[in-house]
Amino acid sequence: MKRISVIMPAYNEESNIPILRERLTALFDSTREYEFELVVVDDHSTDVSFDLLKAWAEVEPRVRVLRLSRNCGSHAALHAGLASCEGDAAVFLAADLQDPPELVLEMARRWREGSDVVWAVRTAREGEKISVKLFARAYYSTLRRLALAEMPAQGTDFLLMDRKVIDAYLRIPEKNTSLMCMVLWMGFRQSFLPYVKQARASGTSKWTLGKKIKLFVDSIVSFSFTPIRAMSLLGVLFAVGGSAFAAWVVVARLAGWVTPGTGYAALMTALLVGFGLVMLMLGVIGEYLWRTFDEARGRPRFIVEERYPPCDASARDPGRPTEGTPQQ
Ligand code: UDP
Ligand code: MG
Repeated sequence: MKRISVIMPAYNEESNIPILRERLTALFDSTREYEFELVVVDDHSTDVSFDLLKAWAEVEPRVRVLRLSRNCGSHAALHAGLASCEGDAAVFLAADLQDPPELVLEMARRWREGSDVVWAVRTAREGEKISVKLFARAYYSTLRRLALAEMPAQGTDFLLMDRKVIDAYLRIPEKNTSLMCMVLWMGFRQSFLPYVKQARASGTSKWTLGKKIKLFVDSIVSFSFTPIRAMSLLGVLFAVGGSAFAAWVVVARLAGWVTPGTGYAALMTALLVGFGLVMLMLGVIGEYLWRTFDEARGRPRFIVEERYPPCDASARDPGRPTEGTPQQ
């Protein structure tokens, strides 16, 4: 029997846990075709999520819980889940039930038919604010244009991946990146399945604007050199424009015309625009440089504070990394 690990990041999701228990138990009991395990990664919740999850794991042997030592974001939490799961395939599921658990069976069918990665691509997003939808649209279309053309236009973060993809992913040391972009980039046999992303069962989104901006810059910097290329182009454009202007000043002076652009306003405009652009370019270089430095430091992407049931995952498989550091 094939084993599927459901990996679920959870951050302050106490209000969703009772309904999660119902829906997932129903899914796990609905088929004899697969054996399920649920790995919930508590991303350092400040509510009673971890206690509720432990209580669930106490009575349900298919459930395991990890708690991270600090709030690392859902991509790091998913990474932690991947590093400790044992299935032949893993599927990501959000704790707010926006992604219907029942779709996992359809994704598993595609996997059995030969896909290594099955993406559930949202055709619509129910119950989302217009600002969230606009941000998502801007994020995915910029990403497609600048970095990853294979990213579905509507966006996706609900996927199933085969064991060989999980192991290949765990060997990649990069941490300032998007897990979804990395899996798309990795290749293998990928297939796409449409679905409707539902409204949150309860509570509010845990993705703050700051986290979204960090993910956006990570995704671009990690997969594209277009910003660096754009800086060079802009530099060339300014140099050519400046030289043409200087040549015109010389010709105008020799011809005895009124010398153009010597006024204070013109000077200040050129100065401020020029400085602004230089600073922007330094900022772009800084984004790349900071990430290089951060990767070089080699700090783990996450640290596991507690496991429930308390067991050492590396004892089951010593070759598998249990922290956010890559396998050597
Ligand atoms: N999440 C997490 N850490 C965070 C933010 C979110 O583990 O710092 C989890 C969250 O509990 C949920 C999933 O990631 O299970 C998706 O987050 P959310 O529903 O808040 O994001 P949205 O659906 O608005 O993109
Ligand atoms: Mg959500």
